[in-house]
Amino acid sequence: MSGVEDGLFRQLFENNLSGCGLHELLYGADGQAVDYRFLELNPAFERITGLRRSELLGRTVLEVLPTTEPAWIRRYAEVVSSGQSIHFEEFSVALGRWFEVMAFPLGEHRFAAVFTDITARMRSVSELRETQETLRQALLQAEVANVAKSQFLATMSHEIRTPLNGVIGMADLLVQSGLTSEQEAMAEIIQDCGEALVAVVGDVLDLAQIESGRMQLQTQDVDVRRLVEGVHGMFVNTAKSKGLEFLVRVDPAVPQFLCGDAVRLRQVLINLVGNAVKFTSQGRIRLAVSAGPNTSGRIPLTWEVSDTGPGIPAEYAARLFEPFSQADGGPSRRHGGTGLGLAIAKRLVELMDGTLTAETAPGCGTTFHCTVFMAPASGAGEADHRPPTQIAGWRRRPSILVVEDDPTCQFTMRMMLDELGCDHAEVEDGNQAIAAVRAGTYDLVLMDCQMPECDGYEATRQIRAEATATSRLPIIAVTANVFTEDRERCTTFGMDDFLAKPLSLEALRACLRCWLRELML
Ligand code: ADP
Repeated sequence: MSGVEDGLFRQLFENNLSGCGLHELLYGADGQAVDYRFLELNPAFERITGLRRSELLGRTVLEVLPTTEPAWIRRYAEVVSSGQSIHFEEFSVALGRWFEVMAFPLGEHRFAAVFTDITARMRSVSELRETQETLRQALLQAEVANVAKSQFLATMSHEIRTPLNGVIGMADLLVQSGLTSEQEAMAEIIQDCGEALVAVVGDVLDLAQIESGRMQLQTQDVDVRRLVEGVHGMFVNTAKSKGLEFLVRVDPAVPQFLCGDAVRLRQVLINLVGNAVKFTSQGRIRLAVSAGPNTSGRIPLTWEVSDTGPGIPAEYAARLFEPFSQADGGPSRRHGGTGLGLAIAKRLVELMDGTLTAETAPGCGTTFHCTVFMAPASGAGEADHRPPTQIAGWRRRPSILVVEDDPTCQFTMRMMLDELGCDHAEVEDGNQAIAAVRAGTYDLVLMDCQMPECDGYEATRQIRAEATATSRLPIIAVTANVFTEDRERCTTFGMDDFLAKPLSLEALRACLRCWLRELML
């Protein structure tokens, strides 16, 4: 090597940021390497080890650092004997630090070692491992605690529900036991509070069951229209009392029966519609359902529950489906509720392989989109266990004319008349009603009183004026005006009977039994 190159290599050695040392192995009597001597060291070596070059040169490692482990000497002996370079990471007990080392054979029992201090990296790796282990333990404990919590909630909910049933049942009996009106009012408050409490406990139980993975869905045939009718019937009065319109639409493509968990599906719809009614103070609520094609035995049923309520701010909408979250949470909130309903609804829908999302903005109302997957009807289940609401044995199916301008009321009426085994036709105002009676042969007319153009009173008056004495067609007023003078007005205009809105199936059945007695077997 020329002098110039020699100088360059020396600079490389001197300026290297890694510690560099040239060493000579020393052997014992048995030919085994037992120590090594420092021949040359660079400034980085001094910096990294904290040892002085002048104190090391010519001395052996065991003289300077007597606690040096034999493993280090063995590794260097291997380099010398094999003539191969090696790379390793090792902890030095003598220096109390970790090093990354590259060692090269230099022939004649000599070798070079180039090393860097990796103590900081090794510490953070080991700290990371420790943190990971701590986290794993914490997660494990949290999971165990969560299962215990769900178990506790499930047990508590059950334990609370059992005595509550007693409270409600007894309050029920108490109400019917001939109380003074004041006592009756008190007993009814007990009933109402009991039922509210059962609902809260039910929510907690549901959530606990879902979270612990113990919620199992039932499968039975669901009468979709009946389900819609039930949910509508449940809220139509409250909606009306708040001045809200409640629209319902069932797409004609929706099969009458599908197979799924009717109870849980109803629970989801009740929550969505209940919230829509609760939070909306003017405008309308809409419940619509449509169905997609049957794909490998799965039929998507898409529900849409929309309202013209206040809408939900974006920052809250993101947490809408989390348990216990309420947009107007806090002690000053105006509406009751636990903040569990939507969390449960979403989880139930997911159990049905479906999705539940909200489309909302402040001032723009809220629309919940819910898709669940149902199976085609099996021919068993809810449909077969329905209470026998049909009037047993018409001689022939009665033909009923429904005069009604409100689509939701039309819908309800249709469902009920189907249920009662009657044929029906619909018209939307008094003039159409007069024409229909002239043209058709109906057994009975269900007449709304307030309609545009010609109302129910005027239509009845004209129908009566044209009718012959022998063929008196029963005309039944169906109206939300329920005072005595309203009844009297109906009678004055020639109506035969009076049904109050919201119409119940029982009331309609009793009315048809009464007025169509000659058509019954
Ligand atoms: P709860 O109604 O029992 O408080 P939910 O989980 O059903 O619990 O609803 C959580 C919250 O989401 C409600 O408290 C309300 O702030 C908001 N919310 C739900 N539905 C509507 C809606 N249709 N319009 C406005 N806010 C709604």
